[in-house]
Formats: sequence, structure tokens, C-alpha cells
Amino acid sequence: VSDGGNKKSSRVRVAVRLRPYMDKQDGKGEGPCVRGLDSQNLEIINWRNATETVKYHFDAFHGEQTTQQEVFLSSVKPILPHILNGQNASVFAYGPTGAGKTHTMLGSSEQPGVIPRAVGEVFKLVKAEDEGWDYSIGMSYLEIYNEKVLDLLSPSSQDLPIREDKDKNIFIPGLTHTTITSFNDFDKQFVPASLNRTTASTKLNQRSSRSHAILLIKVVRTQCALPHRQQTGKLYLVDLAGSEDNRRTGNQGIRLKESGAINLSLFTLSKVVDSLNSGTAVRVPYRDSKLTRLLQDSLGGSAHSVMITNIAPEYKYYFDTFNALNFAAKSKLI
Ligand code: ADP
Ligand code: MG
Repeated sequence: VSDGGNKKSSRVRVAVRLRPYMDKQDGKGEGPCVRGLDSQNLEIINWRNATETVKYHFDAFHGEQTTQQEVFLSSVKPILPHILNGQNASVFAYGPTGAGKTHTMLGSSEQPGVIPRAVGEVFKLVKAEDEGWDYSIGMSYLEIYNEKVLDLLSPSSQDLPIREDKDKNIFIPGLTHTTITSFNDFDKQFVPASLNRTTASTKLNQRSSRSHAILLIKVVRTQCALPHRQQTGKLYLVDLAGSEDNRRTGNQGIRLKESGAINLSLFTLSKVVDSLNSGTAVRVPYRDSKLTRLLQDSLGGSAHSVMITNIAPEYKYYFDTFNALNFAAKSKLI
């Protein structure tokens, strides 16, 4: 969709989700350091003065009691119809390791998260469509680890390049893209690939907390009548690497190198979201990291995006929570 380049980029919606207090074995009885105030506001203890709190305002705040269904309905479901109309969208889970990103995106069989719900909903929407178009749904699943692009549906593949076509669509030549015909078909391919990633993680320094896992659902529709016009909509569902400052935790060697890469892509993501939401940037720095380069056509522009910042209430997460809230608030405020 071109309008001479004058169109304002759409902003990124920012939601915060606080998971329940779980550190019962901690035994120090410190209690939570952060709490919700209402559906858009929360407060965290001020570390300079524990009798004070710092308050934050977001597009949405999801408290400890919020169900998976509520998060999906409020933050994700509304953007899905656009994918069927050839528009792009992205959903990110941001936050420190242990704060609930994977729970939010993937969940469990008892409490399915955003990914299974969104895929199920896309199939439902396609079924309910009026006649006139043929729909085809496909998936890719990849991770960005140490600024390398790896195909999770073809685990032996090497680092893949990211390219842009003449219509400014971003694509990865060589990335596996398989057609899926039902939710069960999706599940059959996605679950083993997810397990691959988890198995690898225990061997490779908790790789899952150090890589960005990216699921792409692509909906292509073709007009039944001549001239068989075609439109493609992409949905990226992203479980980001942990946002904790790895320099603080004393990682060295290879892990320090990884931390640098993680910090680069998360840092660039923050700059991109920031310049999209402030609307003042001359240049959005998509090209500064693999993650933002890949998401360039699905973040800002005419795309619909939401960032769910996951936080944990325990004191041991205090500084990571504080940093995550400041990142999210900075994205939101302007
Ligand atoms: P992350 O992916 O950010 O490292 P996880 O999603 O693995 O964090 O969450 C850490 C732990 O907390 C897991 O055991 C997970 O099941 C649990 N958890 C996270 N969010 C919630 C929630 N909203 N309700 C209940 N348990 C949660
Ligand atoms: Mg995780």
C-alpha cells in the first residue's frame, strides 16, 4: 500500500503482564515488589526509598489473575483479521528470563498461550470468509541466535540470509515454508520443532533464553475470478531472548559474545519501537540487527504490532523488572 510515503507508521501497542508470585522456596518473606493498580496502571517499589513507589501507565496491564484467554482476547485476537486482508502483524513477548514469555506465547496443553490460540483463530477466520477468494496458510519457524538465522523446521541448516524484494517484502531464501491445512496439521509440525529447541537449550547454555524464537504464519489469498489477484498477510509470533543484563550476571567467553548479540538485537528493537511510537525519527534503524531487519515489513508501516512485556513480582527480579518497565514505558509514553 503506497501513498507517496507520507503515511504515518502505525504505533506499537504496549501491554504488560505480571505473573503470579511463585518464589515460595525463597523463604525470605519479602513478598512482591510490584503490583497492579487497574487495567492500565501498576506500581513498583522505589529502590531509592522503599516507602515510595514508581507508577507506570500502559495500553493494557494484565495482573497475576489474568488468564491466557484474556491476554489473547485483549492483545492478539483484534489484529488477526488484518492478516486475511494482506496486511502484516507481529506479537512479541519481551522481558527477563523466568517472567513468563514462553508461558504467554506457548503456554501448556492445560493453559495454551497466544501461539495455539492465534493459529486456531486464523483457521476459524478463513473458514468463515465469504466466497470469492481461495486461502492458503503456511508456516515457517526459525530462531535468531547470536545474530544467526536458523531454521527450526530443518535443524541442520546453516545461518540463512535475509533479503528484500522489489516491493520491500522481507524474505529468507532457503527457509522451510510448509503449507498447513488445519490446526492439527500445524501442531504436528510445530510441537517437535519446539522440542528440538528445548533439547538443544540444555546442552547449549540455556539457549532458549538467549535466542529469539520466531513463528511465521503466512496467509495467501487468491481471487477466484480473473485476474486472480493475490494478497499475502504475515503474522510473526515472537518469544524474545531474555532481557536481563547478562553483563551483570558475570558471563564470559562465548556466553559474553552471545550476550552482546542479544543486547544488540533487543537494544535495536527498543530503538525501532521507540522511533515508531514517537513518530519523529527520520530513519527507523531496522537494519541494525537481524531481528528488526526480518520484522521490518511487519513492525510499523501499515502493520499491526503488540509487545507484551512480561514481568515477575519477586525482589530478585527487581532491576530486570525496572529495566523492562522503563523500556516498555518509553515505547508507550510518547
Ligand atoms: P520465560 O519464558 O520468560 O523465561 P516462563 O514462561 O518459562 O518464562 O515462565 C517461568 C515459570 O513461571 C514457568 O514455570 C511458567 O509456567 C510460570 N509462569 C509464567 N507465567 C505464568 C502465569 N501467568 N501463570 C502461572 N504460571 C506462570
Ligand atoms: Mg522462555
